[in-house]
Amino acid sequence: MLKTLRRIVQEVNAAHDFGEALQIMVERVREAVETEACTVFLIDEATDELVAMATSGLNVDAVSKVRVKRNEGLVGLVAEREEPLNLEDAPSHPNFVYHPGLKEESYSAFLAVPIIHHRKLFGVIVLQQTEKRRFDEAEEAFLITVSAQSAGIIAHAEVTGAIKALFSRKVGRKKQGLSLEGIAACPGIAIGKSILVYPPADLDAVPDKKIKDKEKEILKFDIALKAARKQIETLGQRLSPNLPEEEQALFDVYLKILDGAGIKDAVVNEINQGQWAQGALRKVVQYHIRQFEAMEDSYLRERADDIKDLGLRILAQLQESQDEMIDYPPNTILLGENIPPAILAEVPEGRLKGIVSVRGSANSHVAILARALGVPAVMGVDGLVAAAANYQNVDVIVDGYYGQVYIEPSKNLRHEFTILAQEEQELDTNLAELRGEPATTPDGHTVPLFVNSGLAADAGLSLSVGAEGVGLYRTEVPFLVRDRFPTEEEQRKIYRQLLNAFSPRPVIMRTLDVGGDKELPYFPVVEENPFLGWRGIRLTLDHPDVFLVQLRAMLKASVGFSNLRIMLPMITSINEIDEALELINQAYDELTEEGFDIIKPPLGVMIEIPSAVYLAPDISNKVDFLSIGTNDLTQYILAVDRNNSRVANLYDSLHPAVLRALEYVLESGHNAGKKVSICGEMASDPAAVIVLLALGFDALSMSSVSLPRIKWVIRNIPMQTARETLKKIMQMDNPKIIRFNLEQLLEAHGLGGLIRAGK
Ligand code: PEP
Ligand code: MG
Repeated sequence: MLKTLRRIVQEVNAAHDFGEALQIMVERVREAVETEACTVFLIDEATDELVAMATSGLNVDAVSKVRVKRNEGLVGLVAEREEPLNLEDAPSHPNFVYHPGLKEESYSAFLAVPIIHHRKLFGVIVLQQTEKRRFDEAEEAFLITVSAQSAGIIAHAEVTGAIKALFSRKVGRKKQGLSLEGIAACPGIAIGKSILVYPPADLDAVPDKKIKDKEKEILKFDIALKAARKQIETLGQRLSPNLPEEEQALFDVYLKILDGAGIKDAVVNEINQGQWAQGALRKVVQYHIRQFEAMEDSYLRERADDIKDLGLRILAQLQESQDEMIDYPPNTILLGENIPPAILAEVPEGRLKGIVSVRGSANSHVAILARALGVPAVMGVDGLVAAAANYQNVDVIVDGYYGQVYIEPSKNLRHEFTILAQEEQELDTNLAELRGEPATTPDGHTVPLFVNSGLAADAGLSLSVGAEGVGLYRTEVPFLVRDRFPTEEEQRKIYRQLLNAFSPRPVIMRTLDVGGDKELPYFPVVEENPFLGWRGIRLTLDHPDVFLVQLRAMLKASVGFSNLRIMLPMITSINEIDEALELINQAYDELTEEGFDIIKPPLGVMIEIPSAVYLAPDISNKVDFLSIGTNDLTQYILAVDRNNSRVANLYDSLHPAVLRALEYVLESGHNAGKKVSICGEMASDPAAVIVLLALGFDALSMSSVSLPRIKWVIRNIPMQTARETLKKIMQMDNPKIIRFNLEQLLEAHGLGGLIRAGK
């Protein structure tokens, strides 16, 4: 059964379009269960009805015509109860409704299973048979499994707009531009042109693209093929003295595949149909991989990997020869499966207007950088993968408030968003007037507001919003945008620029925190669980060479200034602080000996791992200040990957467990007479800020785009009210209800416009 299931899923996935996928599904399922009819009903959201969308065994002419209300008939009953229904004689069931169009009068046996993905009902799949009998348990289990597997495919079709397209094609509704949903990651509205970003040499990420000059494309492919061939030959020769004979044979196999007509002709054929070389290669290679993977023989199945490897080699050659210079339009919207943080720095200043990413969530580093730069962003846009085809340089609207992306929007929609963008600008102008004002509550409590920074370019933005300093400078950014480790002098210059820009306001520089989702292109770390792996201080303590260069650069940069603070990321244990301190002292002593006049900077630690929460009293005795990184702390306390859009709804810094951790760390720090601040994104969240204010944090650090809004919140909510609310919510156990209460408070104070949707 499992094999059959796998084959069905593979075939369904390989279908050209969603309509064909549904048809393959019903046919294969009917054959597998050896029954007479299999039909899929899907919900048409426009009318909230279940519509027969594919059938094998019933009247095909009825497809898309037979519609049932959600609670009508047996299919409606399954949809309503969201559980399987297995009947020996369907017509004798009280809910049975006869649909003449379907021609189902001869059938008695009836088994129907709901199609549900992430708690949402998408439709119902039905088996029918003339014979009066109950489908047995194995058949029922099989249909449930098919339904669960296909639910993912159907849900995906929904986000890509394929379901809507199918309905409108079959029912003849008017075609609309594509609207995709994701996670709101940086508030704001952007209207611009898309630039596709796809990682090098990743076949699955290559989009379809139509070309006109077929000859040129075929030539490109030919050159890439030859280069890949040469590469394999050289590799084979180089390795042959060290390789056993059977392994050497692999290279011969590779060369035979490349020389054979199969792949080459198929790719040229695709190009001749107007597909660009990379897309043609992807199609052909994926087709071959599927063929091999579906084979019974395990040796032949393994060959799928060889084809994949070859495909990647040719692709790498093709991508190398592709025009390196990207022409970023003045209103660039980056769109891609995965947007690496480094690319943000590649777009010329002032041109990056929006970000749309298939992967990631509001807590991914690229989203954090987007907020630092004030660039509206939507992450976790699942529908984009398949839809990216030909979406290079098309009109896109990014709604960073509601997590919506509109591709090739209609004129009307564009007009509406232009008005919204203007209104937003007006709000920003009003907020800008608060620039010189302190963040003081109406009853006189002041909370210093700092900015999180990562790019030297955003220093100007931070100062322009009236920041009192930098609460977190993510030093990894200059490391991410290079193709090697930056030298001591390169680092010194960057750090000095920042210290100089903010002096005498404090700048908290965090030592290198790579790993997790921040991979250095020139220092790849391959791990199964990177967020639990070699990250932050763990990596730098293992590489004192890298660490010392950075510490020396920071200290040297601070000559003549007194505003440098150093902070250590990802501290898990006390000994890490001791070891880091030793290296800081070493760098300081060396530089003093070399004649530099440096003030020893205060040292702080990030509290972002649960162990550090429990150790907060001991840590407070060792360092000068604590800063809570709520982004990581939330993910580690709740065991919810901050990058995984599938569990993004479970990621909430207002979870009572996180709130208790914050309270404990604050109390521990204050007991030791140390300042405790927040530098995670929680401080950018207008609702959460009420809690942070009431808890009594000494400073809040946030993205510069958020700062004016947060100041507005603090200036409008009396401390007294915030404390009363805190008391109430500390008794609550549901983060959603906690948020609701805080949002109500914002509304009551006329700050409803700040509430971020989707959070
Ligand atoms: C955090 O984890 O909250 C934090 C501020 O650090 P980063 O987001 O860079 O991991
Ligand atoms: Mg962190």
